[in-house]
Amino acid sequence: MEEKSPPDSANLARRQWLKCAGVAAAAGGLVLGARQANAGTAKAEQKLDGVFDVVIIGAGLAGLTAARDLQLAGCDSFVVLEARDRVGGRTLNYNIEGGYVSEVGGQWIGPGQTAVADLARQMEVGTFPSYYDGKTVILGGDGRLELDLKGTFGTDETVSGKLSQLSRDVPSGEPWKSPKVGELDKLSVGDWLGNQNIKPEDRAGWNATITLTGGAAPAKMGLLHFLSMINSADCDYSQLDSIKHSAQETRFVGGSQILSIKMAQQLGDKVRLSTPVRQISGWDRDVVTLRTDHGEVRARKVIVAIHPALCHQVQFNPPLPEKRVALQRAWPAHSPARKTAMVYRRPFWRDKGLNGHIFQANGPLIWAFDNSPPGGEIGIINAFVVNAMLPSDPDAAKSILTELYARAWGRDALSPVAYHDQDWGRMDSWSITCISAIPPGFWSTHGEALRPPCGNLIWSGTETAEIWAGYMDGAVRSGHQASLQVLNALRRA
Ligand SMILES: Cc1cc2nc3c(=O)[nH]c(=O)nc-3n(C[C@H](O)[C@H](O)[C@H](O)COP(=O)(O)OP(=O)(O)OC[C@H]3O[C@@H](n4cnc5c(N)ncnc54)[C@H](O)[C@@H]3O)c2cc1C
Repeated sequence: MEEKSPPDSANLARRQWLKCAGVAAAAGGLVLGARQANAGTAKAEQKLDGVFDVVIIGAGLAGLTAARDLQLAGCDSFVVLEARDRVGGRTLNYNIEGGYVSEVGGQWIGPGQTAVADLARQMEVGTFPSYYDGKTVILGGDGRLELDLKGTFGTDETVSGKLSQLSRDVPSGEPWKSPKVGELDKLSVGDWLGNQNIKPEDRAGWNATITLTGGAAPAKMGLLHFLSMINSADCDYSQLDSIKHSAQETRFVGGSQILSIKMAQQLGDKVRLSTPVRQISGWDRDVVTLRTDHGEVRARKVIVAIHPALCHQVQFNPPLPEKRVALQRAWPAHSPARKTAMVYRRPFWRDKGLNGHIFQANGPLIWAFDNSPPGGEIGIINAFVVNAMLPSDPDAAKSILTELYARAWGRDALSPVAYHDQDWGRMDSWSITCISAIPPGFWSTHGEALRPPCGNLIWSGTETAEIWAGYMDGAVRSGHQASLQVLNALRRA
């Protein structure tokens, strides 16, 4: 797997592109034309003394964005090591007969998420609006109610307005620097909601929407963290928890995984699949050695574009600094992320003036929604479900869900043509969570250890983003940031 020594001219070539890349990095952006300008020299550079300039761990949106930036800047001496036999990480398309897809991982983008939108434009991936025309069905006990929520989740504006106001004091990328950190990081979102005189009948709605937007029930989520998320959304809670003008507003044609698939196609054999990194040695020296299932790889800089909690699966030699280890250890690894897709011949609910959305109080459904393709040629209902309330056996789960859908939309719902069940907590060892539900006290204790590089290791992945951390947009931003850090560091070296 190691590369052979280069001719002397390669050293010269390397210095040339580093200079070029450094200028681009210092200017705050990557020069797109640089790739062509350096193409000839960069090929030779890859062979330099058996050591890559950069190794990227993880072929999710963050790692692939970083790799693409390096390539665009003219750097050719890098490789992406991915544990799975596919790219995309927490984005995953479920392929349906007829060439349709439904996303069973990350899928929506919304206002302010300009990094992922830009990436889509560059990769020529189209977007289309999420479907919400018509009435939402609310199921509770034996009851059924139809409401026209007009593209919102129907949360109380007085309470959400207070959250928006509070979020102004909590910088999204550094919540631990909030002037109110002591006061806010003591509380869970549930503690805070408990003091807001919310009517008992509205509690279930808050539980559902906060679980959807934050990845955990209000009692488990830190108020400081949740406010930092709202701060990312232009200090406007409604930009997080609605569909219209919000983070659930827009979808990608071909499913969100297509972004990673297209980036990987451009990167070609620089992306090595089924190559988990097991050990990283000498991160405090000039050359870092990574042990994978297919041999060793050596590099000057390593971009670690994986979830912080997954860093524990990698053995570091010497051990990482204590503060970094404590952050990784304390990072909540599991948040409820089970997503299902039920496929019908047609989106028949639309004929009845219904939008295909269901909220259920005290049942297995958190939220079901219309996830049909742009033209509505077939009908797809995706749902976030409560793991503990739905059998893990897909057939049993399917039958419970079709009964619920029939309660909402009638007997047509009993005849789906396909079903897919994606439990991210049980899939494999490489994505144990959806978005991280950070508990109270976490940021004030561990925040400072999130981003500082350790020797030649540069931390990336959505969790490290300055804004929209936890989202696809944050992943793309973190990839751009990591590639700039690496280019600057190599230039200095
Ligand atoms: C069910 C669900 C719904 C979501 N909904 C949305 C949404 O609607 N909108 C939104 O913006 N975001 C959503 N997200 C979050 C979004 O998908 C993620 O923020 C984003 O995809 C993270 O990208 P990443 O590159 O930072 O990390 P990942 O996608 O986790 O990529 C990391 C990669 O590293 C690999 N890896 C891990 N360990 C190793 C190792 N030791 N060696 C080699 N490779 C390794 C993994 O296999 C993975 O491919 C959702 C996520 C889930 C699961």
